[in-house]
Amino acid sequence: MSTVLPLAEPPPHVRAASRRAHEQQRLAKRLRHQVGRAIADFGMIEDGDRVMVCLSGGKDSYTLLDVLLQLQKKAPVTFSITAVNLDQKQPGFPEHVLPDYLRSIGVDYRILEQDTYYVVARVVPEGKTMCALCSRLRRGALYTFAEAQGYTKIALGHHRDDLVATFFLNLFFHAKLSGMPPKLRSDDGKHVVIRPLAYVREDDIAEYAAMRAFPIIPCNLCGSQENLQRKQVKRMLDQWERDSPGRIEQISRALGDIRPSQLSDPKLFDFLALGRSGGAALPDAHAWLAGEVRDDGEPSPERIAHAD
Ligand code: SF4
Repeated sequence: MSTVLPLAEPPPHVRAASRRAHEQQRLAKRLRHQVGRAIADFGMIEDGDRVMVCLSGGKDSYTLLDVLLQLQKKAPVTFSITAVNLDQKQPGFPEHVLPDYLRSIGVDYRILEQDTYYVVARVVPEGKTMCALCSRLRRGALYTFAEAQGYTKIALGHHRDDLVATFFLNLFFHAKLSGMPPKLRSDDGKHVVIRPLAYVREDDIAEYAAMRAFPIIPCNLCGSQENLQRKQVKRMLDQWERDSPGRIEQISRALGDIRPSQLSDPKLFDFLALGRSGGAALPDAHAWLAGEVRDDGEPSPERIAHAD
C-alpha cells in the first residue's frame, strides 16, 4: 500500500513571488481591458487605420504603445502602428534610449528632430514654466508629420487622471465646463486624436511601467518649472483621493454621464421648450420677459408706442 505524503508548503519567498506574478498578470489584463473598452466606446480605431503613437519616453506613452501592440494581435480589425518620437534637443536627452528600445521590440518607428528647446528657452522668461509652449511646438511638429505621412489616427498617452485634472483646470482657471476628450478632431480639422488610456489610472500605469522595466526618460531634463495651476489641482485631487478613495474614479465616470437638462446651458438643452402647453410656444421668450410682446405674441402697447 502506498502512502500519500502531504505536499510541502512552498517557502515564503516563493509564495510571495507567485503572488506578485499573479497580481502583475491581473494588472496587465486590467489595462488591456480598459484600453479595449475605451477604443470600443469611442470608436477610436477602425479597419485599415494607420495609427501614429506619440512616444515621449515617459511611462504613459510607453504603456500606451505596449498595450496597443498587444491588442493589435487580437483585434478583430487590421491596423498598423508606428511609434514616433520628437527629439526636441533638450540638453542631456539620451538620444539612443528610444531607438534601442523600439528596435528591441521590433515595432515600426520614426525619430524626428527639431530644436524646439532653443525656441522655448529663448522666448520664455527664466524661471517660468516652459511646458505650454514646448507642448504646442511638439504638437505642431507631430501633427505636420502625421499629415505628411498619411497617418489616420494620432494616439496620445493621456490617462484618466490627466482627463480629470484638465477638467478642474478649465473649471477653476477658465470658468469652463470642458476637459480633455478621449477622441477629438484637431482644430484645423485635419487630424483625429485618440487617447486610449482614457480609463486607466495613473497609479496603474506607474506600476505597469515599473513591472515592464521601460527605459524611462524624465521629462524635466529641460529644467522647466512645473505649471503651478496644474500642480495645485493635482495636490487637491491627491488629497481628495486620500480622504475618500475612489473619488477620482467617480469624477471620471461622471465626465461620461452628463445630463444637460441638469446644468444651465441653454445651448445644450432647450429650456425654452420646457413646459410649453400644447405646442403654443411663446414666439420670443426673451422679448416676452423684457415686456416687448404680450402672452399671445403680439407687440405690447409700450412697444407699439415706442415704435411710433
Ligand atoms: S518639462 Fe520640459 S520637455 Fe517636458 S513639456 Fe515641459 S518644457 Fe517640455
